[in-house]
Amino acid sequence: MAEIRLEGVSKKYSPKDSTYAVEHLTYTIPDGDFVSLLGPSGCGKSTTLNMIAGLESVTDGSIIVDGSAVEDLEPHKRDLAFVFQDYALYPHLSVADNIAFGLKMRRMPKAEIRRRVKDAAERLELEGLLRRKPKALSGGQRQRVALARAIARRPGVLLFDEPLSNLDALLRDRTRAELKMLHADIGSTSVYVTHDQEEAMSLSDRIAVMSKGRLEQYGTPSDIYLRP
Ligand code: ADP
Ligand code: ADP
Repeated sequence: MAEIRLEGVSKKYSPKDSTYAVEHLTYTIPDGDFVSLLGPSGCGKSTTLNMIAGLESVTDGSIIVDGSAVEDLEPHKRDLAFVFQDYALYPHLSVADNIAFGLKMRRMPKAEIRRRVKDAAERLELEGLLRRKPKALSGGQRQRVALARAIARRPGVLLFDEPLSNLDALLRDRTRAELKMLHADIGSTSVYVTHDQEEAMSLSDRIAVMSKGRLEQYGTPSDIYLRP
């Protein structure tokens, strides 16, 4: 169960900044929902995502995940996984070890780690690639490893920062469909940053439309009005 509540969240990167990177964000992401943060470059999507992850502090307000303020939890106790635009795989580790990394960190029993690596590799069709190093993979394969690593954790919260933006159009469509299935299976509350309206509309239960650091609209795809 992982509901995410933003309560009057504002962020300034430096006290000297005259404007906020995000301002007065208040909304709730229900447990198990897939929510996209949508808006043009610079509107504050990544800032919001990084604050939910605890990678950036909030300047005002608070973010409550599963009943606890993010800043009160030690980083390794946060029940979340992050998928980055540039995949952020460990270059010296094999695909299998990349997928297992977070599980080993959490001292999960070996047999359970093996089961989860196998399951994640099957879901993302990586079985034949488990011994390879990231540099011997294509971009699409690297992205699938990053997704496998995230879902192997079965986290309460999955965070995505433009995970498809480095893929070509065909691969993007395929991976998008895959993401939708993964979410339906795994059920982690998912927050997905994108500037692509169509992507947000097709993937999301709800969309948070942002503009200049503020929340402009929040609702289901059919509630949202998007300018053509
Ligand atoms: P988006 O993800 O929608 O492109 P960001 O959250 O990256 O937007 O940026 C929101 C605002 O915060 C922008 O004005 C950006 O320049 C500023 N910003 C983002 N990251 C930093 C940072 N690390 N230091 C200072 N300012 C930042
Ligand atoms: P490249 O970028 O070198 O074309 P890909 O990663 O696109 O390599 O594809 C490598 C193999 O994985 C191909 O056989 C392709 O059919 C398969 N593949 C690629 N993407 C997916 C995906 N999202 N789901 C399932 N199979 C995929």
